[in-house]
Amino acid sequence: MDKANVKQMIRNEIVSSLLKTQKFLIVGNWKMNQTKHEVMSFLDAIVDYDFGNKNKLVIVPSNPYLYLFEDKLRYSKILYGVQNVFPKNEGAFTGELSIQMTKDFGCKYAILGHSERRTLFNECDEFVSKKVRMCVQNQIIPILCIGENLEDRKNGNYKKFLTNQIKEGLSRISGEELKEVVIAYEPIWEIGTGETELPDQVEEINMFLRKFIIKEYGNDKGKNITLTYGGSVKPSNVGELALAQDVSGFLIGGASLESKTFKDISDILNGN
Ligand code: PEP
Repeated sequence: MDKANVKQMIRNEIVSSLLKTQKFLIVGNWKMNQTKHEVMSFLDAIVDYDFGNKNKLVIVPSNPYLYLFEDKLRYSKILYGVQNVFPKNEGAFTGELSIQMTKDFGCKYAILGHSERRTLFNECDEFVSKKVRMCVQNQIIPILCIGENLEDRKNGNYKKFLTNQIKEGLSRISGEELKEVVIAYEPIWEIGTGETELPDQVEEINMFLRKFIIKEYGNDKGKNITLTYGGSVKPSNVGELALAQDVSGFLIGGASLESKTFKDISDILNGN
């Protein structure tokens, strides 16, 4: 075996032993994908799979299929959630989903302020912050998505942009409630494009974001908040990205649609 292979083997060993101990949140965002048949096959393929006890797994399907999740995952450790909620309890809001409806189906998480909702449906920080409040008040964990576009990234404004999104998104919750929130950093130009930042770049931004949260909310709260990364994460890059400091999980779109890749990602993050 040549030196390069030996080096790679040693590196793989180190990576897997690090991943064996670190805990991750793994969230699959299915967006507007999957048919009823595909959802059933996916659930059949994962329901008895050994995902281990270390990481937390969450799948976020389209709303019509939540009843299948409630039924199939009743005795499973896999959690599920919704891709959006409306910040009012009930009323004349055609096409919207209330927090009670998410609870009726056993949801535990809600993705809020995803860049697709911000750009395609004009959701602003103020509106997103009301949804964050609604979730925290009702024991649904909000996954507050933040992320800059390519223009902001290139012109150097992105750090200010991201910290504003955090400040505004969290403006209706107290420091105490911060532990009930997940922040998902997703650079917009990497979502669904196959492009992913280098682990060093991910590390730099996540460290910056955590430092900012510590400064704003105090050491304990900032240190413990779950800060995930998303943007074309897949089995081939998740191991390296998981080594980046201050990344406590992943929000995964495309690669979460197939049960095989979802399981592969879980295996890698278990250090297997
Ligand atoms: C996402 O939906 O939030 C996402 C990160 O998608 P993808 O993994 O496909 O880039």
